[in-house]
Amino acid sequence: MSTHVLVLGGTTEARELAALLAARPGLRVTTSLAGRVSRPGPQAGEVRTGGFGGADGLAAWLREHRVDAVVDATHPFAEAITRNAAGAAAATGVPLVVLRRPGWRPGPADRWHPAGSPAEAARLLPGLGRRVFLTTGRLGLAAFAPLTGLHFLVRSVEPPEPPMPADTRVLLARGPFTVAGETELLRAHRIDVLVTKDSGGEATAAKLTAARKLGLPVVVVGRPPLPYGVTAVPDVPAALARLCLPPA
Ligand code: NAP
Repeated sequence: MSTHVLVLGGTTEARELAALLAARPGLRVTTSLAGRVSRPGPQAGEVRTGGFGGADGLAAWLREHRVDAVVDATHPFAEAITRNAAGAAAATGVPLVVLRRPGWRPGPADRWHPAGSPAEAARLLPGLGRRVFLTTGRLGLAAFAPLTGLHFLVRSVEPPEPPMPADTRVLLARGPFTVAGETELLRAHRIDVLVTKDSGGEATAAKLTAARKLGLPVVVVGRPPLPYGVTAVPDVPAALARLCLPPA
């Protein structure tokens, strides 16, 4: 019988991992997507879409589909599904590997302002500039909605949902982005300050380099902590090694 790995996805790393696992004989891989993105990219192996119904629902799914191992390769800010994965793994005894790309680190020329939450980022903004490039995702705009007197350029993959700041211009785009493109964007929109989550990874890091080049301040919203007792591996090779799969 084949080994069945469930990859909780929605990231580049999840897609890469699924491709490597799907190429192994005797291994079945299913990627789970939340269903937030209307046209997700191509994906190797099987795909299921939509929530499981909390940790209990995920545990039931693991049992029903005879899952041998789970890789939580979700985005560092997808806090609920990571909590549920830890709970379901503990309840079922199915091994869990958590894959988290490392966070970004500021260089000497960076003007970073750490924020513990979107609300804290919103409190910092009025002291940093009037024209804001906001890249915290379409669901994270509520904290900025009460801010008046500031102009927001919001970039997201899917159209954002209210509440959002009154003076908002939306730019729909999906990375990866280039330093040249990001520099031009910051200049064209006369941006004073950038707000980002500490997502890490290459696909969206160009905006940080562009902000450094232009000497702009960056408000960086920190990551939620991993559930108690959970440790993470930083990349796809480490996740593969941690899975301890039978030889191909
Ligand atoms: P979240 O707050 O942790 O999850 C909310 C609920 O959505 C979960 O409780 C779960 O519903 C469902 N869910 C989330 N990820 C799922 C998955 N991979 N498969 C099945 N159900 C999932 O997550 P989020 O921040 O909304 O992110 C949703 C997805 O988008 C994640 O897969 C993540 O990797 C991806 N993503 C997130 C961000 C971000 O900034 N948050 C950025 C890029 C990509 P049930 O409780 O019903 O199971």
